[in-house]
Amino acid sequence: MLRLETELAKINGIGQKFIDKLDKLKIKTVKDLLWHFPFRYDDFSTVAKIADLKVNQSATVRAVVKKVSTRRSWKKKMVIVEALVADETGGIKAIWFNQPFIAKALMPGRRVNFAGKVAMSNDEIFLQSPTYELFQNTTETMHTAGLIPVYPETRGLTSKGIRFLTGALLKNLESIPDFLPEEVLLQAEMPSVASALKNIHFPKKIEQAEKARERFAFADIFLIQLMNLRNRMLLAKEKAPPLNIDKSAITDFIARLPFELTGAQHRSIDEIVHDLAKPNPMNRLLQGDVGSGKTVVAAVAALMSAQNGKQTAFMAPTEVLARQHYRTLCAIFKNYPIGIGILTGSESRAFYGEGMESKLTRPKFLEEIAQDKIKIILGTHALISEVKGKKSLIFNDLALAIVDEQHRFGVDQRASLVKKESASRRTAGWRTGETTTVHFLSMSATPIPRTLSLTLFGDLDLSIIDEMPKGRKEIVTKVIPPLNRKKAYDFIRGEVKKGRQAFVICPRIEEAEKPEVAKVGDKKKINLWADVKNVTEEYERLSKTIFPDLRVAMLHGRMKGVEKAEIMADFAAGRTHLLVSTSVIEVGVDVPNASIMMIEGADRFGLAQLYQFRGRVGRGEHQSYCLLFTDSESASTAQRLDALIKAKNGFELAEQDLAIRGPGEFIGDKQTGIPDLAMRSLNNIAIIKLARASAEVLIKKDYTLSNYPPLKAELAKFQNKIHLE
Ligand code: ADP
Ligand code: MG
Repeated sequence: MLRLETELAKINGIGQKFIDKLDKLKIKTVKDLLWHFPFRYDDFSTVAKIADLKVNQSATVRAVVKKVSTRRSWKKKMVIVEALVADETGGIKAIWFNQPFIAKALMPGRRVNFAGKVAMSNDEIFLQSPTYELFQNTTETMHTAGLIPVYPETRGLTSKGIRFLTGALLKNLESIPDFLPEEVLLQAEMPSVASALKNIHFPKKIEQAEKARERFAFADIFLIQLMNLRNRMLLAKEKAPPLNIDKSAITDFIARLPFELTGAQHRSIDEIVHDLAKPNPMNRLLQGDVGSGKTVVAAVAALMSAQNGKQTAFMAPTEVLARQHYRTLCAIFKNYPIGIGILTGSESRAFYGEGMESKLTRPKFLEEIAQDKIKIILGTHALISEVKGKKSLIFNDLALAIVDEQHRFGVDQRASLVKKESASRRTAGWRTGETTTVHFLSMSATPIPRTLSLTLFGDLDLSIIDEMPKGRKEIVTKVIPPLNRKKAYDFIRGEVKKGRQAFVICPRIEEAEKPEVAKVGDKKKINLWADVKNVTEEYERLSKTIFPDLRVAMLHGRMKGVEKAEIMADFAAGRTHLLVSTSVIEVGVDVPNASIMMIEGADRFGLAQLYQFRGRVGRGEHQSYCLLFTDSESASTAQRLDALIKAKNGFELAEQDLAIRGPGEFIGDKQTGIPDLAMRSLNNIAIIKLARASAEVLIKKDYTLSNYPPLKAELAKFQNKIHLE
């Protein structure tokens, strides 16, 4: 008997040629083939008499082959096979292109089923490339007289071949084990894997195929949810330093702020400090639109940690952003006895109160941290990564890790973040003999649709700032037709004359190959260089030709950290008027005096990203503008840009992005390992909720899953394959 793991090559009767072709689709085992699902079904279930056929109809006829001929088309490029077939009501031609072998199979006199579409040419109807089946029974067909599965093919591997083998395998397979427990199937009303496989390949009705597809998506999402819930439970069993929360200190801190917190900020602070007081690690994601005021919320958490005599690591994905957070926190805490430090690849400095800031050598900085003189440490991933030949950072008593825009960190960096966390657990010295985990607060301005965050961040608790600070003016957003480009430039000049500043964002350029600048295959690097080239050209044009009278600066990701910091500092201080940049400024930069965001090639950015760009302006009291430029005239570009113009908040936009571009937009080109079908179901809230509910029931009953060995094994396999945030 065959098993799912059986290799196709070891099965008698499958030709080597076929095996080789399957190999190209990465199909090696029985399981691989059975999980190679059709992408559509042709409906040939109507069995018709030839005399009744109508143009454009899809149908099956039972006929006898009368005559077969092969000829070349007039350009001699194509082989055309033509057959005359007939039943008792009449005859019809069937025509195939470039399938010469068909002529051999269709010997005159044979009784054959033909399934296909009825086409018309020169007033004569004919069957266009019909599928055929060499026996006459219409109840046990595989290629005709029913819903016929059509598969993703490669050259020479036909749906017919796949159908044939899949059908044979399904008949000869011993019972197919289902890793989903029966109780889960019953409760979720999902078919067993055996019936779902049969129905996804050979459905009698289209609903059966849909249900089967749903079952496979459900199974994957169920595993993701199970993984999240298990992580959650495991984390809840770990220990973290419970912080003593001084409510009056928080009230006092808030009272000193130059603005009033929004309700959503208050709520988020409450949720966070509630977590910090617990003896188990916080694992929370703080989500809020650009400009919604996440930093000050994070600052309260850092304050609590410092007041408990503990340290906070505050990480940002770029040096520019780390410096900005450093400056913000220095200002916020200038009257507090809290040491604040910043450590990046290029500098380290510390702030001990108003007027007391000093540059430190790296060793001195590390010493200050080891001696607990610096309580809040800002930096990029350099905080956690080993720098060659340099002593790495060891916290004295780390209680809290805050990560801004966590999804912008690379996978490796995230991995070392987790490692460092555990290293700090060991060195934290939080009560001898006991290991603790730090509290973790992740922040994101990328509005993620609820469906996605439920799945992708299912192991995190969510705090959402869905309310903007009072008094923010709406940003006027416009698509500028190419003809009005000059007008737009004049407008920018006018605003600058009034004292404002502007960003100009240049698009990502996908440059396929330019091997001289980077190693072949290193596509990302090549693209970065392409971006630099683009931004440089635009910078030249704007500074020399368009705005020779203004001070224009350029910023891109290939610049050194110090250089970038200087350029940003100049812009922040108003010393430059225009900042021409690649998407490096996308993250978090705060320049309240900037009132214009001009985006070139707007069609090349995702909605969520455009939304982030726009959030760079409108941060001060000035009326702000977002000017979108695009060469694309496609309807989908217009639709997307229109969504941006109309969107009132990021979450709304994110839902639309999900609908228009699919989940890939949010998950990016990162290899998540999430199976295709599950990916495509990530916008199906019903399935996600169902999977989550089912996983919750099961995990409550038996979180070790020891009563469900097949599920446990499948989960372990799945966990190895998947990389979520
Ligand atoms: P983001 O959520 O994008 O990180 P920030 O924390 O950088 O936003 O805040 C953006 C700006 O808004 C900052 O200048 C900050 O001081 C200010 N801000 C934060 N909260 C409020 C509020 N409740 N009212 C007014 N301004 C605020
Ligand atoms: Mg921010």
